[in-house]
Amino acid sequence: MRASSLISFLAFGIIALTACAPAAAADSPALAKALAAVSAAGYAPETAAAIKARINASPERFLSLLAGAEKDEAAVPDLFRRADKTVPLGDSYIPADLVALDGTGLSVSRKGHHLRRGAYEAMLRMNRAARADAVTLLISSSYRSYEYQKEVFARNTREEGSEAAAERISARPGYSQHQLGTVIDFGTIDNNYVNTKPGKWLAANAWRYGWSLSYPKGLENITGYDWECWHYRYIGISAAQLQREFFGDIQQYVIEFFEQYNK
Ligand SMILES: [Zn+2]
Repeated sequence: MRASSLISFLAFGIIALTACAPAAAADSPALAKALAAVSAAGYAPETAAAIKARINASPERFLSLLAGAEKDEAAVPDLFRRADKTVPLGDSYIPADLVALDGTGLSVSRKGHHLRRGAYEAMLRMNRAARADAVTLLISSSYRSYEYQKEVFARNTREEGSEAAAERISARPGYSQHQLGTVIDFGTIDNNYVNTKPGKWLAANAWRYGWSLSYPKGLENITGYDWECWHYRYIGISAAQLQREFFGDIQQYVIEFFEQYNK
């Protein structure tokens, strides 16, 4: 083969490769379904446009994380189940695979904490990494039953003076993410925690183990809750990456996406 034809052969190969790879992702039914879910999710128009632009800029990355998230969800059903002020779990929702944390080596505020198995195993992995960095992650609240949340909300209503005031800091029974069994409140359960060593460690590293901050600062209009630097939900590593890379690092957007995508 002459040098010039070799060069054109190679050039053709490169063009064919670069042209084919993104086209395959862009044409995939999963991508069309995902983009339709973004349209249906009820985001503000500029939010939906930004999410779609990010997906269309990196469709292969998006689909690979989406496939990972679906695999995680198959192992932990209801992993992306919505539970917020608009969509309650109801009074009869009890996760099937709760594990007691007593005697597991995790740091707990009291006896009787429980998490779903998938969240428990992810917490063990995160705890090992934190310990290696000389950080103690204290679990102060975990799974809460409907009945327990009833007590929490009644107490907050008494202390805050009204149900409306109580609802800024706690959920009505049946509406709490804690009822999912995949949520942990860490440390002191106040926003000074963000300035502590474990609070900083979680803010920097929790996503690497599949944990996501549910109620970030300044997003009460989107999440329904005031900032809670201590409240993390397990969504799996792939979904935590989807959240960071495609959904503006807002868990509420990821959950609302899967609510539509899974329909
Ligand atoms: Zn909480």
